[in-house]
Amino acid sequence: MLLAGDVGGTKTLIGLFDRSERRPNAIAAHGYATNEFPSFTAILDAFARDVHQPFSVTAAAVGVAGPVFGRTAKLTNIAWDISADEVTARFGTERVALLNDLEAMAYSVSVLEGDEVAVLQAGTARPDGNAAVIAAGTGLGQAFLHRVHGKLRPVPSEAGHADFAARTDREIELVRMLRDRYGRAEVEQVLSGPGLLNLHRFTHRGTECPVVDDLLAPEAPARVSQGALTGRCQFCVEALRMFVAAYGAEAGNLALRGVASAGVFVGGGIAPKILPAITNGSFMDAFRAKAPMTELLERIPVIVILNDNAGLLGAAVYAQEMLATA
Ligand SMILES: [Zn+2]
Repeated sequence: MLLAGDVGGTKTLIGLFDRSERRPNAIAAHGYATNEFPSFTAILDAFARDVHQPFSVTAAAVGVAGPVFGRTAKLTNIAWDISADEVTARFGTERVALLNDLEAMAYSVSVLEGDEVAVLQAGTARPDGNAAVIAAGTGLGQAFLHRVHGKLRPVPSEAGHADFAARTDREIELVRMLRDRYGRAEVEQVLSGPGLLNLHRFTHRGTECPVVDDLLAPEAPARVSQGALTGRCQFCVEALRMFVAAYGAEAGNLALRGVASAGVFVGGGIAPKILPAITNGSFMDAFRAKAPMTELLERIPVIVILNDNAGLLGAAVYAQEMLATA
């Protein structure tokens, strides 16, 4: 069987998959709170217990929210590292790969089905073009899919830590606030759960919010979205409006950087939860507003990934490919 993992700063998913021609077939999947475990091996032990029956692993791939260097990866905000050797030690297989989490998600895009996506712009996908993935969640991830010898090959990045590009006077004010708070304005400090809280701080300056009283609570970003989507707080409405426009603009930046004429995929936990705000037009307006490249951007398919296990599925796709090329 194939073992797949998706290790994030908040949540870790581990799954078992059967090989299957179209795409790996999920047999079992379990989720764990990453910071409640002392090591990655401890999560693998918990998973082996939760599966309730013996299984043998022929290949394993794990997406990790952080940079991967060879057979090790370091998670941002988590005290322990991950090593491919831990998977080998636990399950015996030598075929183990660590991938960046967005790189893993990128392996899923060619096998997603119609009910697992929402189309923001149909466009006209160039069959010889590149693609790209952007995903706001606990952090902001981006990956390129470069067309190499006719096939899309995922390429990781740490683009979430690149600079936030302000476009409006309001965003320039936001950059000032972020620079005062953090020393510089990273795009992830706007486009992520914590980023939505920064937008909340920015739009509520000096005013009470009737929806969110504790910005440190784990559910605070979701409450900001709810306050905005229900119209209960005008400042939450502005925070979400700024979030969606900045998200569309950054997706457009990614499309330009990768010349992603075969499609831009929007993954991560936030987009499906705020879909009414993502589909109301402001995301795509900001995506396209890059004269003189408007025409290029109008032709790019833009697709939201609704399957919240896409990262895990992509890791399984990679594990299956490892066996095919073995
Ligand atoms: Zn509010």
